[in-house]
Amino acid sequence: MSGPSSDCAAILTNISSYLDGELDATACAAIEAHCATCPHCAPLVQGLRRTVGLCREAGSAPLPEEVRARARDRVRRLLDERTRSDS
Ligand SMILES: [Zn+2]
Repeated sequence: MSGPSSDCAAILTNISSYLDGELDATACAAIEAHCATCPHCAPLVQGLRRTVGLCREAGSAPLPEEVRARARDRVRRLLDERTRSDS
């Protein structure tokens, strides 16, 4: 079993909530914990951490909408692929 799991879909959903500005510390912790063990999500989260400051400390400036939109699009596409590749 090397394919993405349903956990991955849950994590991607969390990330997309973050991009909508709704992620709390608990969800952030779940993302971090998942990425410590998941080779599928770790590179994505690392990239998002660089580009959109995923789960960075509070108090930083809001993201430009354009950056959010791009990242959101990327996450949704992945989510879509993963859902489809299940069958
Ligand atoms: Zn994963």
